[in-house]
Amino acid sequence: MDTNETLFLEQWQNTANDIRIQPIHHELYAHQQISVHLLRLDLIHPLISGNKWFKLKYNLLAALQANKKTLLSFGGAYSNHLHALAYAGNLFQFHTIGIVRGEEQLTPTIADCIHWGMSMHYMPRGSYRFRYESDFIQDIQQRYPEAFLIPEGGHNAEGLRGCSEILNNIDVTNYSHIACAVGTGATMRGLLQSLTNQTCVVGFSALKKCDQEQQYLQQAYPSLRWQLIPDMNFGGFAKQNQTLLAFQQTFHHQHQVELDYVYTAKMMYQLNQHIEQGLIPKGSKILAIHTGGVQGNRSVVV
Ligand SMILES: *Cc1c(COP(=O)(O)O)cnc(C)c1O
Repeated sequence: MDTNETLFLEQWQNTANDIRIQPIHHELYAHQQISVHLLRLDLIHPLISGNKWFKLKYNLLAALQANKKTLLSFGGAYSNHLHALAYAGNLFQFHTIGIVRGEEQLTPTIADCIHWGMSMHYMPRGSYRFRYESDFIQDIQQRYPEAFLIPEGGHNAEGLRGCSEILNNIDVTNYSHIACAVGTGATMRGLLQSLTNQTCVVGFSALKKCDQEQQYLQQAYPSLRWQLIPDMNFGGFAKQNQTLLAFQQTFHHQHQVELDYVYTAKMMYQLNQHIEQGLIPKGSKILAIHTGGVQGNRSVVV
């Protein structure tokens, strides 16, 4: 690695605040003799939030190594990923391009991205859904030859590598279970990659359907312990209802932690449901990961 790259990694590391592990007390947990701790990744950086700090790290490094000064990625109008990318790109002197799903709109998320210098390009949903296909990616690369492409959510080898460092400095032998929210699945895969012991990773998907990811995990990690649970309560990605909103507010009030509606509130709600239903054995010690993304709550008008 040349000095530039070493310097980048050092500077990236310097953006990180201390994170902590917060015990969460709840009658339900006491009753089932289960302990729950929250890994506060949301505290790592106010704007490069939670798991996105880990996913962007090696993507920015790879862009430097490829001598690219422009970063391009994809997301919705409230995307935590684009938000973090726009800020991080600005901080490290990259030009950034965001391809946004759907019609042109000015959400608070997009306003921030523009403020940090991101060029926004809106793409009709009919085309956007091909974002993972190679023809589509080739076409984008031809249109933006100067850009380093990062897939939606930072879901690539570099993103996974970053996520495999989430549990560095944590003694995982203290926990029987690691709980995380799942979108693209990069975070969960990264966690699995870093685990060699008998800790069980329980992923709570923000999506109603996740059988493809389940199939992938089955063949990629046959000897590790994991479970991937679809959103069975709220109707799928970014969907919410009064129950979820009330849960998020109560949680905030009781534990002084703001969860986001799309991922972590759903994770904690479903984790509690699992514990209530006796699906997690007595005596379990759970480390739940707060993956950040609270800026996305601006999509909800309460
Ligand atoms: C992006 C995001 C996720 C999803 O992570 P994946 O690696 O895509 O599964 C989870 N939680 C929060 C808060 C996020 O912003």
